[in-house]
Amino acid sequence: MVVQTERDDATWYECETCGLLFDEQSDATEHEKHCDGSDPSYIQ
Ligand SMILES: [Zn+2]
Repeated sequence: MVVQTERDDATWYECETCGLLFDEQSDATEHEKHCDGSDPSYIQ
């Protein structure tokens, strides 16, 4: 699931599975489709 979050006066979209942040909701949604959250190297 992608969650919207405010940080540094900007809106970010966070992949709830791995915690990765995106500035575009479409990027976060696309990432989340492929994110299984089980690979530690995937976390920024
Ligand atoms: Zn993710």
